[in-house]
Amino acid sequence: SMHGATRETRSTCPYCGVGCGVIIESAGAQITGVRGDPDHPANFGRLCTKGSTLHLTATAAVTMQTRLLQPMRRAERGTAPAAITWDAALDTATAKFAQVIRDHGHDAVGFYISGQLLTEDYYVFNKLAKGLIGTNNIDTNSRLCMSSAVAGYKKTLGADAPPACYDDFNHAQCLFIVGSNTAWAHPILFRRIEDAKRANPAMKIVVVDPRRTDTCEIADLHLAIQPGTDVMLFHGLLHLMLREGWTRPDYIAAHTSGFDTLAARVRDCTPERVAQVCGIDARDLLETARLFATSAATLSLYCQGLNQSSSGTAKNATLINLHLATGQIGRPGAGPFSLTGQPNAMGGREVGGMANLLGAHRDLANPAHRAEVAALWGVADVPAAPGKTAVEMFQAAADGEVRALWIACTNPAQSMPDQATVRRALERCEFVVVQEAFATTATCAYADLLLPATTWGEKLGTVTNSERRISRVRQAVPAPGGARHDWSAVADFAQRLEAVLPPRSVTPLFPYALDAEAGAEAIWNEHRESTRGRDLDITGLSWPILDAQGPQQWPCPADTACGGNDNGNATALPAVRRQFGKARLYEDGVFPTPDGRARFYDVAYKPVAEAREPRYPLSLNTGRLRDQWHGMSRTGTLGRLFGHVPEPVVQMHPQDMVHRALRDGDLVQVASKRGAIVLPAQGSTDIGPGQSFIAMHWGEEALSGRSSAGERLAGVNTLSTPVFCPDSKQPELKHAAVQIAKA
Ligand code: SF4
Repeated sequence: SMHGATRETRSTCPYCGVGCGVIIESAGAQITGVRGDPDHPANFGRLCTKGSTLHLTATAAVTMQTRLLQPMRRAERGTAPAAITWDAALDTATAKFAQVIRDHGHDAVGFYISGQLLTEDYYVFNKLAKGLIGTNNIDTNSRLCMSSAVAGYKKTLGADAPPACYDDFNHAQCLFIVGSNTAWAHPILFRRIEDAKRANPAMKIVVVDPRRTDTCEIADLHLAIQPGTDVMLFHGLLHLMLREGWTRPDYIAAHTSGFDTLAARVRDCTPERVAQVCGIDARDLLETARLFATSAATLSLYCQGLNQSSSGTAKNATLINLHLATGQIGRPGAGPFSLTGQPNAMGGREVGGMANLLGAHRDLANPAHRAEVAALWGVADVPAAPGKTAVEMFQAAADGEVRALWIACTNPAQSMPDQATVRRALERCEFVVVQEAFATTATCAYADLLLPATTWGEKLGTVTNSERRISRVRQAVPAPGGARHDWSAVADFAQRLEAVLPPRSVTPLFPYALDAEAGAEAIWNEHRESTRGRDLDITGLSWPILDAQGPQQWPCPADTACGGNDNGNATALPAVRRQFGKARLYEDGVFPTPDGRARFYDVAYKPVAEAREPRYPLSLNTGRLRDQWHGMSRTGTLGRLFGHVPEPVVQMHPQDMVHRALRDGDLVQVASKRGAIVLPAQGSTDIGPGQSFIAMHWGEEALSGRSSAGERLAGVNTLSTPVFCPDSKQPELKHAAVQIAKA
């Protein structure tokens, strides 16, 4: 019963891509506690500061009234929105979208969604855009998070599939951590790394990061490279591996293609040149090459330092080059392993929830894949024209090309680069729908229609974590007020839109029960069917299996489920539970490419998009804090999560402080070509001379700014550049050139 005694519900933490299992304690409609799920193979009962305070943030959101609890319509921009019914809200949205589509074409509408949505939410949005409306203008904040990792995997290994698993920490002899402050951004994985190091003190850890982060405390070697020089570093490592005879010619010959052109490319990446470009010691470079290539098993962990870059794909792919050249892949403890930023960026990719993807790792650019998806959905076709990716979508809206935007579970008016353009886009749009759990995000101010969504503790569905593991998200308490599950509200809208658009299929496209868990399960089952025969085949799984056996990794085709396949973490699981899926990929050396061979990626090193120059002489880096999440709409409601870092600061090297006659706490203006913000300065030797760092989380209330044209803006993305990687279209949030002076 939902009333009376304390109930316990197994679910998943909604924050990061570690995907920890939680047990939610509730009494009636109140969430009263949370603890780690001892049976969940991601965390075995542990939670970090964010996860362990989930119940408190849930309560704080109620007492501080930050939740959006009913649909609201704004008659005019800038006025207060008024409550309306769900029927009126969805009818309004239907009429508006239908009108824009009729008058301006399918591509005049766009959807900007989130790696925090559940797989079922993602699936319905994708089918709505690509199946019903006939536009590929659907992209997500995963574009700002993992799209370079996706492109890097596909270009080298042939599929968007992280080949390693968390259990590999226990088998690695060398950990190569690049562009990831694991200690703060993926804390429970860091605990597992600490455990592994304690159990195996011989394991060597190399951390590559321009900053000396807390992650460096466990490192045997820290390479503080100059921002954006990763590709030069990786080429330099390969150069040394070749020179020293540390590559694996047998592996290269048997399982790869394209090595010779790459080997020719790295010939002039001499240690002297690489040391100079990267700003590191040539002896450290040699030691890193030796550790990586000659250890019994080398595991790379990497995150936004590689992804959020104008050469994000090149950084990912040239790191994977090193694994292929040394055969450090497809064995326990060896392989490239991208750490997912958001809780369900993986699940979103699985259902094809981006502008260039289709469901079950199919590609929009592939006519056969488009035909397969059209057949699965029962529609005549899926449009071929590529959709707009995140930065392009807001640019198109600012240009008047995209006229109606539906934004769900994300806050682009804080999190997108180049805020001046994003805010112009939202102002210019004829119709903006914001589907949100929180009424407080900056984007809500631009909404014509606000749709209240359920959030953690109320939502149900599935997510996939960094190691390809699918976990159930379960509902502990009823939805508050008029909040609805995202998939349910969107399917409701889609049913209404289907009734007014020219027919696309003979049978209804969204035949899901809108008010029952069975609706979400039916959506998941539809997704499951689309994976049959694909690299992420999950036809061996079902919600009852996930209930009975716990979270499972893909691939898990029907035959493995029948036969059982206890590898990976199985020994650590309770006896009643079994692991069916594959813990690690490519153990047979066969890759999902046309010829079965992995491909080396040959690409030239390119420096950051916005070089330092006399007017903007400092590099600005951005990143996470330990106790905050994204734009703080959840973590910002809890005082204790500000104990670690109470306010925004810009960190600079003491020498750069002295040059500007600055002392700790002095207010400074940080300006890029796009705008300026004012905040206190803090000297720190954790970053090198010529560099600066600001945490990404702070928004309107804490960090005000102005665009170069004088518009009011907020947060670090006042400064950031919209320049993106040509392959992944992921913007360079990790680097901008700035000037800093006393305010
Ligand atoms: Fe949640 Fe990530 Fe912390 Fe685990 S490590 S409790 S998933 S925020």
